[in-house]
Amino acid sequence: MNELLEYFNELNDLDYFKKKIRVYGYKKSYNYNFVEGLTPYLFESLNIKNKIAKETNENRPGKIEEKKYITIHDTGDTLPGHGSKFWADAVYNEFIKETNQKYACSYQYVVGNEGIYHMIPDNEIAWHAGDSTKVSYNLYDTGVGIHHHHDIDITTDGYFSIGGIKSNIMAPRGENDKILTKDDINDQGLTLVKGENNYLLGEVYYNETYQKICNRGGNNNSIGIEISMAKGENLFVNLARCAKLVVKLLKENKLLMSDIKQHHFFSGKNCPQTLRENELWDYFLHLIDVEAIVDSYLSDGYKLSIETKCEYVNENGSIDKLPGAVRGIEYIVTTEYQGKKETALFVKLI
Ligand SMILES: [Zn+2]
Repeated sequence: MNELLEYFNELNDLDYFKKKIRVYGYKKSYNYNFVEGLTPYLFESLNIKNKIAKETNENRPGKIEEKKYITIHDTGDTLPGHGSKFWADAVYNEFIKETNQKYACSYQYVVGNEGIYHMIPDNEIAWHAGDSTKVSYNLYDTGVGIHHHHDIDITTDGYFSIGGIKSNIMAPRGENDKILTKDDINDQGLTLVKGENNYLLGEVYYNETYQKICNRGGNNNSIGIEISMAKGENLFVNLARCAKLVVKLLKENKLLMSDIKQHHFFSGKNCPQTLRENELWDYFLHLIDVEAIVDSYLSDGYKLSIETKCEYVNENGSIDKLPGAVRGIEYIVTTEYQGKKETALFVKLI
């Protein structure tokens, strides 16, 4: 077996991921049996449909800013038919026809069963993170030297501390100038970078709507991606397709896994709600890891395909509904490298 087939062998040994989840929508929520594909890797190439908003759009300010993060959202819209095309049209037209309403938000991408749409150029700012565009990316010297512990807390007199050592940076205050505590920091934490000698802290602020201390840089310095939650769609496909897009964006913008943030990180909003409430965030990061590893082989010149006789499996290896009576599905992975074809037969226990 070559290295890539060895990797698929490892993936095949992982427990099959399935979970009964609740999908949250602003109007209606629904229960859904989330089932992984035959493998966590989605057997399709990245296909991005360009639907770039006109430069005259108000939701496309056109300002160029360096990208430091990728922001993940879900649409929070479960209505059938309100998938990626619906939301791409909303950004493109700055308008929702169905409700005859202006749409002032924007994001670079939306991903769903109908495909990946690209509406705002990656290097431009967009309106999706709820942190305004007032403040540019900045790092501040905390005065705290680099040491083993780097958990952030707030001292009783209102300064940030790092690993128990008080910094010279005052934490934002709450309503009526209240001194806040660690519990008021959003669950994804604050941007903390190792400088030459000291820890550096990013721009932070108190979001009054969600009452959390959050990070700036969502609208200005991140690439925003919405994931469709429309009823009737295969949500594994949406997550895996998004993971594939994230891998491309990480490479192009020289970003790390740790630069992938939830919308929550920038505003305290419970978004992406379905991933957060069902504890799917770590699974989503795992899908990104898998896509990144397979991508490194494909970039090296490997070719890859999957085949199965099982009628429940789609061409890209995804499964819409688990067959009740079946406990194992046979499939063949074929690789080609430097003119040499190799295949391996696997059985996925589901
Ligand atoms: Zn969001």
